[in-house]
Amino acid sequence: MKVRFAPSPTGKIHVGNVRAALFNWLFVRKAGGTFLLRIDDTDFARSTAENEDGIRRDLSWLGLTWDEQARQSDRTAIYDAAAEKLKAAGLLYPCYETAEELERKRKIALSRGRPPVYDRAALSLTADDRAKLEAEGQRPHWRFKLSGNRVAWSDLIRGEQTVDTGSMSDPVLIRADGAYLYTLPSVVDDVDLQITHVIRGEDHVTNTGAQIEIFEALSGTRPVFGHYSLLVGADGEALSKRLGSLSIEGLRADGLDPMAVLSLLARLGTSDPVEPVADRAVLVERFDITRIGRAPARFDPEDVVRLSAQLLHARSYEAVKADLVALDADLGEPFWLAVRANLAKVADVSAWVPVVTGPLTPVITDAAVTDAAARLVPEGELTPESWSGFVAAVKDATGAKGKGLFMPLRQALTGMDHGPEMGPLFALIGAERARARLSGQTA
Ligand code: GLU
Repeated sequence: MKVRFAPSPTGKIHVGNVRAALFNWLFVRKAGGTFLLRIDDTDFARSTAENEDGIRRDLSWLGLTWDEQARQSDRTAIYDAAAEKLKAAGLLYPCYETAEELERKRKIALSRGRPPVYDRAALSLTADDRAKLEAEGQRPHWRFKLSGNRVAWSDLIRGEQTVDTGSMSDPVLIRADGAYLYTLPSVVDDVDLQITHVIRGEDHVTNTGAQIEIFEALSGTRPVFGHYSLLVGADGEALSKRLGSLSIEGLRADGLDPMAVLSLLARLGTSDPVEPVADRAVLVERFDITRIGRAPARFDPEDVVRLSAQLLHARSYEAVKADLVALDADLGEPFWLAVRANLAKVADVSAWVPVVTGPLTPVITDAAVTDAAARLVPEGELTPESWSGFVAAVKDATGAKGKGLFMPLRQALTGMDHGPEMGPLFALIGAERARARLSGQTA
């Protein structure tokens, strides 16, 4: 089994692209097979090395490892050979219409209530006509001659599919400047690199009809196809316009957990619930392509934020230690366990470091409570269990209770009016610092 993820390096990759990468990756990791990263850079003008590097960086951050790689711009000779084969078979023919002419024909067809399908006028050009056009300096673009039959395949996701190539324009495979469009190189690569399964968005369904005819024309083995429905925004609108702000680079810069992105994308559009999964192997094990439905999948960036926080709240000290060291916030396991439930992103941990290490300026809102409390801090080493006895003693001494008791203590000890459970934090702050802060001193 062999699949490919085939991004075009014409921009940054976004959640829509990652869904393609992830479905292919989960599918092949589960079955055992090869994942090819194919860079579709036939559009020379818009493809950049920087975007290509960005794709690799984003996939690496997500942990979507590839076993092989290929770049279409390195493979032109193979496409040339395929094009010659199609030309020899009379299936790739030169056309000389300009963009304006084609647009005019399209409008006329529409105004007559006909589908705007290319009329194949170029097929009736004689050798003399062509020679004349060439002599005038016109360079042809080349179209593939569709059969006009129904093409059928059994889709992994959509079930039995048919596309009527009689209702489609013959696709342009080679532009007038000699550049290949995506359609032919993709088929040639799928054959030559022995791709067994193509999982891609349903925006390619019609294209698949044409490509299956090209597979046949080249006597290549066609892969099995699966077309999933596209992502839409939480409001049901197409995501395409907003995808720029949903780049993987952006999610990474926001400090979100790559596993939150994968956990969400693995389940969106399936009949299974979205849940935070910290381990890619678990996603692989639970993946089942037949669970992907045909309804559009709603993507809400807030879900990534929520899943990322949930994953953080469950993260062990061992798993987070390197991040804490990098943030200069590694105060040991008890500290991590005390604060993790209060964090949305791992970098938020920094706010809690001075609470434990000082110096921190206390917030005194009820001096009667905190002055009494300062004298009641137990002697010696505090443990998380010290807190309840201490609070009971302050309550007895001052008569304060409920919020009127807890809030002044929290504000004096942490400088904040919200935060983690106080018991573990009290032990981490320690008796000496607690006494000073309750007395209003910076400590
Ligand atoms: N480069 C193509 C795209 O991004 C690949 C489509 C395919 O998977 O065949 O749409």
